[in-house]
Amino acid sequence: MPGYYIWTIGCQMNKAESQRVAYYLELFGYQAAPVLQRADLVVLNTCVVRQSAESKVIGTLGYLKGIKNSKPDFSILVTGCFVDSDVKWLERNFPHVDLFFKPSDYAGLLRWAEKQGIGIPGDRTGLPSTKSTSVSASIPIIQGCNNFCSYCIVPYRRGREKSRPIEEIVCEVTELAKRGTREVTLLGQNVNSYGHDLPTQPNLSNLLTELNDVDGLARIRFLTSHPKDMGQKLIQTIASLDKVCEHISLPLQAGDNDLLKAMRRGYTVEHYRQLVGNIRNCISEVALSTDVIVGFPNETEEQFERTLAMLEEIRFDTVHVAAYSPRPGTSSREYKDEVLPDIKKERLNKVEMLQADIAGDINSRLTGKIVEVLVEGSKRGKWYGRTRSNKLVFCEGDNDCLGRLIDVTITKASPWALQA
Ligand code: SAM
Ligand code: SF4
Repeated sequence: MPGYYIWTIGCQMNKAESQRVAYYLELFGYQAAPVLQRADLVVLNTCVVRQSAESKVIGTLGYLKGIKNSKPDFSILVTGCFVDSDVKWLERNFPHVDLFFKPSDYAGLLRWAEKQGIGIPGDRTGLPSTKSTSVSASIPIIQGCNNFCSYCIVPYRRGREKSRPIEEIVCEVTELAKRGTREVTLLGQNVNSYGHDLPTQPNLSNLLTELNDVDGLARIRFLTSHPKDMGQKLIQTIASLDKVCEHISLPLQAGDNDLLKAMRRGYTVEHYRQLVGNIRNCISEVALSTDVIVGFPNETEEQFERTLAMLEEIRFDTVHVAAYSPRPGTSSREYKDEVLPDIKKERLNKVEMLQADIAGDINSRLTGKIVEVLVEGSKRGKWYGRTRSNKLVFCEGDNDCLGRLIDVTITKASPWALQA
């Protein structure tokens, strides 16, 4: 059997889409190769959200050119946000690539495979999105983004919002639950706007309510939520459904109103603060994670201090921090006065250090407490899984715990993981 290898970088959406690509490749008769060098076909699932990710993609394409020179039958397929609308330009500049297909354009992948004589004829795009029999599966529910934050390349590469029909998602999750999946994470750049483009205009609350009734499923997560679109009804739905986990990913990006305006985020610090208050009032023991950008054009020391102060005030469980990276086509590129790289680095370190203290403190309060963990696998003789609040837990245990919900006592905590 020929072998395939999928190289994935970037967000959870890319990881979920890679699973689907693997599903199709296995239908074509390929099997997973242990390493890229042993594969006959490689798929690069790419990210260009920051320049550093794009440079990694270009470096890997250069490396693959060397392999293709010595092994002409080797096939190279590229998907993800590196694939922009000018595919002709990509084809001219990377002639060793056999196919560029846009994120989630499985029809394009199937057409290519059919032409090579390796695909199966007919429309297979409605099939379940994953071959997964894993405990936890990621399910894209809405593609693209309509928000056009001034720094972000995603809407240009993934297009406008397009929701999957609610029946299709429920059907897929039901099928996965029958095969043993216990937890699903619903994915979208902005899951809060799910459904507005569908004929019956369902919303995320409707979807969560339907999924809560799926037999065998134990937990439901979703990300990412946009602070401007997170309404009270959704907060109440999360609080009322037993399978929906108490974890919300709510990117703040900056703690200063002028910066938020320049970023075109569509909310203020005051709105965000009130939203967090509502969420914490309605959903007990909710965990919050966020994204922050430091070094946005013209970010002053005072503005950065306001972001730090907001992180101290809210006390997030997790903070993903990135240094601003100018991206082609985005409107923030019009701003001059870039913050110097050293200053960006210094600000990034400050956020990371502050957050390590906060997360260390939040997690240490769990020591001695009993928490419910869904066991996802084992590593170096220990089982691992996550709490409902999305904290990673490693635990001792001789029995086969895979896929089980177990109550464990936390014995040790660090900012990044718990021992039980
Ligand atoms: N849709 C989500 C939201 O509303 O924030 C996040 C999706 S975005 C692909 C993931 C994260 O990458 C963002 O939250 C932001 O912090 C970061 N990011 C996006 N563009 C960036 C840029 N040009 N420079 C640095 N970080 C960036
Ligand atoms: Fe990018 Fe903003 Fe859309 Fe998130 S909401 S994907 S940051 S444009």
